[in-house]
Amino acid sequence: MIVGIDLGTTNSLCAVFQDGQPVIIPSSHGRSLTPSIVGVLDSGELLVGDAARDLRVTRPQHVASRFKRLMGTQETVSLHSKQLNAAELSSLVLKSLKQDAEAYLGEDVTDAVITVPAYFNELQRRATKLAGELAGLRVNRIINEPTAAALAYGFHDRDAEKNLLVIDLGGGTFDVTMMEVFEGTLEIIASAGESTLGGEDFTDRLLGHVLQTMQMHLESAEIRLPLMVSRLRDECERAKRQLGNVEQIDIRIPEDDGHFAESPRTVSITTALFSEIVQPLLERVRRPIARVLRDAGLSPDQVEDVILVGGATRMPVLKTCVREIFDQEPLCTHNPDEVVALGAAIQAALLSNDEAVQDIVMTDVCPFTLGVEITKHIGGHDVEGFFLPIIHRNTTLPVSAEEIVSTVRANQREVVIRVYQGEHRKIEGNLSLGELRVTGIPPAPAGVPIRIRFTYDLNGLLEVEALVDSTGRKFSTVLTNHAQHLSKKEIEDAVSKLQDLKFYPRDEVENQQLLRFSERVLGEISPQERQAFEEIIDSFEIAMASGDPSYFQQVRAFLLERLSELGFPHDSGEGSAE
Ligand code: AMP
Repeated sequence: MIVGIDLGTTNSLCAVFQDGQPVIIPSSHGRSLTPSIVGVLDSGELLVGDAARDLRVTRPQHVASRFKRLMGTQETVSLHSKQLNAAELSSLVLKSLKQDAEAYLGEDVTDAVITVPAYFNELQRRATKLAGELAGLRVNRIINEPTAAALAYGFHDRDAEKNLLVIDLGGGTFDVTMMEVFEGTLEIIASAGESTLGGEDFTDRLLGHVLQTMQMHLESAEIRLPLMVSRLRDECERAKRQLGNVEQIDIRIPEDDGHFAESPRTVSITTALFSEIVQPLLERVRRPIARVLRDAGLSPDQVEDVILVGGATRMPVLKTCVREIFDQEPLCTHNPDEVVALGAAIQAALLSNDEAVQDIVMTDVCPFTLGVEITKHIGGHDVEGFFLPIIHRNTTLPVSAEEIVSTVRANQREVVIRVYQGEHRKIEGNLSLGELRVTGIPPAPAGVPIRIRFTYDLNGLLEVEALVDSTGRKFSTVLTNHAQHLSKKEIEDAVSKLQDLKFYPRDEVENQQLLRFSERVLGEISPQERQAFEEIIDSFEIAMASGDPSYFQQVRAFLLERLSELGFPHDSGEGSAE
């Protein structure tokens, strides 16, 4: 069974193709979304998802979140005295999704299609694949998130003949993809985006603004007053979701210790002010849209459907911006949170040749330009640092392309081929992906030709080969110098390091989440209510450890009742959902 996984910055989801339809697999909490958050308890046990999210508000230092942004880098996050990188942290989220899928399907889940932002570079894709392997999943295919979303829309509208534009603004990434649907053929024409722009930036801008009114800066406040900032971020997140639907919101300012005073200070934000604060972000949203239209050779009025994907497209300011560009109402007929995972499940069905998708043909593109560094002869001098594109952006995949470069000096025995991704004419503006050393070139005058071949596969993974014609010797990568290129032994070591981390028992995770949720509510209620409620939480924690089921159920019911009375019903979603 191959599952489809949307590994998001803020939330992740898993879906499966069953009886001719993609369906979302619920988490152990019965929800479709699993927050991409890993927390660790004092006991060292791990919490993933909803329970970890509640822990983030009360104990931010015990929690790692938004690590998708670090994917493909060497940066690590410290979590309970362990340093974990983004691939390792993501693998814990994937493991939790895998367990949920196994519980739901009643069978082992060994294979997955995982989605990534179209604009994820080579290193970020490899890190994602590695995260899957660390979680014990064979990653059959990495597909682009907007492609998956387009696939979900195309699947339900396969007889149409139209141009679809998918605008995908998630928690931390932004992608735009133009697709043509024609008689069951779904062809991606162009993709663009930014891998560091998402709904979280809108929250951060608002948070930054509120802190500024208090003469504080986000970075320093986060270090000095982490509990206050994490609670205030929560408030800003809530406000962001409402602004546009209501004219004005009062954001409550927590005390330095993260609690709210009985009548907390507030900062008023109007929808107009919010639009102004996030204008620079909306400018960044417009740029890739313009680029995709240019690359596809289409004008806004030639786009039949504009599809919104990703939780952050629910923001009214974003919808207004899209409406202004296209002069039409964007479509969100599918739940924007779920559509990517559903598309991934359809891709899984395509890979397993499921009958229900036999009439669908899907093509994708390489969303960025890939090439090598070259030296140019300018004004009588050799000047290094120029970029020679080999695969141009928006070329249909899979693709194999070749360019010939040559040695620049007489008797040059060796050439280092430096591989870059990006759109700049100089390499300093592009991203280095690695290098390939070509040796043993026979002594000769300058100009010995070397044939460089790039092969970019359907997973969006790049292979580089170099051939010295005069010797017939061939060199090929694996690009080195990056943590993502681990040997089998290194992967085994990483797996065993992760195995030291124990998950909180799955069948008790629901109670752990209730405990963390209650702790979070404790900071929201008035000082008068606080003491009595704290005692109930203490009793609940004691009852959890007591091993006496009937006593436990009694205390649990009491706690749930009290939460409702306080205005924070536990499973309404709102109280605990971001
Ligand atoms: P995703 O990565 O697709 O799960 O997107 C999550 C992002 O969507 C987060 O930044 C959320 O703040 C944002 N988001 C979710 N729901 C809403 C909403 N109703 N209004 C505004 N933003 C939302």
